[in-house]
Amino acid sequence: MSGRDPASDQLLTFKKNQVSHSGHNNLTTKSYGTPTVYKDATLTVGKNGPILLQDVNFIEEMAHFDRERIPERVVHAKGAGAFGYFEVTHDITKYCSAKVFSEIGKRTPIAVRFSTVGGESGSADTVRDPRGFAVKFYTEDGIWDIVGNNTPIFFIRDPVLFTSFIHTQKRNPQTHLKDMDMFWDFITLRPETTHQTLFLMSDRGIPDGYRHMNGYGSHTFKLVNNEGSYVYCKFHYKTDQGIKNLDVATANELSASDPDYSIRDLFNAISKGNFPSWTFYIQVMTKEQAEKSPFNPYDLTKVWSHKEYPLIPVGKLVLDRNPSNYFAEVEQIAFSPAHLVPGIEPSPDKMLQGRLFSYTDTHRHRLGTNYNQLPVNCPFRSRSIPNYERDGPQAIDNKGSAPNYHPNSFSGPVVEERAQRLQPAFPVSGDVYRYDSGDEDNYSQATIFYRKTLDEAARTRLVNNIVGSLSGAVNFIQERAIRNFSQVDADFARRIAEGLKNKAKANL
Ligand code: NDP
Repeated sequence: MSGRDPASDQLLTFKKNQVSHSGHNNLTTKSYGTPTVYKDATLTVGKNGPILLQDVNFIEEMAHFDRERIPERVVHAKGAGAFGYFEVTHDITKYCSAKVFSEIGKRTPIAVRFSTVGGESGSADTVRDPRGFAVKFYTEDGIWDIVGNNTPIFFIRDPVLFTSFIHTQKRNPQTHLKDMDMFWDFITLRPETTHQTLFLMSDRGIPDGYRHMNGYGSHTFKLVNNEGSYVYCKFHYKTDQGIKNLDVATANELSASDPDYSIRDLFNAISKGNFPSWTFYIQVMTKEQAEKSPFNPYDLTKVWSHKEYPLIPVGKLVLDRNPSNYFAEVEQIAFSPAHLVPGIEPSPDKMLQGRLFSYTDTHRHRLGTNYNQLPVNCPFRSRSIPNYERDGPQAIDNKGSAPNYHPNSFSGPVVEERAQRLQPAFPVSGDVYRYDSGDEDNYSQATIFYRKTLDEAARTRLVNNIVGSLSGAVNFIQERAIRNFSQVDADFARRIAEGLKNKAKANL
């Protein structure tokens, strides 16, 4: 980072754009809008104090300051946001009746938040970590969120493992340090993590900022058409800027010299009118294909082959506006996979089912029960559609004098026939049991990735990255990791074992 850029010129730009008309720039007390008498001195008895309790300006300001922070997100704490639009370029109404896809050329406002996953909100951007890529569509039918990542898969397939998995990516409870034993112990005891671990340790594990990576809805969803019949679907958004990753040395250097590298890059690109965009695709699987699929199509550790389920173009995502206030529009933005619109439904994907609960729950904790009334979260394009939720802290849009119970005889809102039609019945059966999925197919797609997707140079970098990380773990965990990697490819495991041996020798 050197010299001036739009991000460093932010205050100058503000000053230049400020239209000063009389009255509007007068300073007021924070909450009740009365003019402030004097800003830079407290109200004291005599020159040397003490301060009077009646200095309400000072007391208001301190009391507000004491409450400035809201709980940091437990995961995805460090992020950047931007706004723009989604434009339909191809007709998919035969699959999906959601209004957002209703006609070619239609534009829907969007908000996007990119993030790292494991670090705190002050951590470096250029770490090896998955990246969050969450999109909020402000549709006429309310909010639709795809709370995606830059990988089409995830480490686990059962959400009951989520809290343990995340604990191992964060800090040791005693030392408060990142702990390679915790990380690799969990990874090797739950080998369904292997496919995603290979993605994480490969080149795409450190994207060059947020503009040069793909996004994926990752989960399997259901698309419902106007007749009420449905297909299963995956969402992909591929970067139009091209994939670009950082090599390890550059990433490490940037962690020290510009820890906010990705936030800065996004802000500057948009400020300069260099609007990033992504081409939006779906993959589609029919019910019959899902029933006959040799793998579980709702398993989040698996991709759907592009050859068998080709990408179908749908539209584009364009980001053309920076947030005008980070806290209001990025820190307070609240995405949830449960924010679905008529025509888009969850599948049985267990990870998705778990997230349907946990995201809305964390927002109630982080922002309060009325988090969807905050301007950045509110369904502003469907506001005329009322509901029966009332009251609670900071209830802003409390539905006035409308009835607050259902059913009622007094013109309260009623269910729309279309929404009902777009949530068709679907069959489910099976014995109720806790099915541990740890020994399902954990390796076949990882093997394809290692042998076919990566070229030899990328395989070597993958081995080196794994050796670099795994060498921090205790010996018996390293040995278990090598046994697991041998299930991916015998030579792959041999190379990792050799790399670990050489590294240990070099450290003697
Ligand atoms: P394809 O050859 O059709 O797809 C391979 C895909 O791999 C590419 O389209 C690209 O996905 C992705 N890819 C390419 N290079 C890398 C890399 N260095 N790191 C991570 N991903 C990369 O074959 P299949 O669809 O049968 O998939 C083969 C393997 O590719 C899978 O087992 C999986 O590991 C991996 N993969 C598959 C994806 C899918 O959705 N089918 C997506 C990502 C990875 P993209 O076009 O999305 O960039």
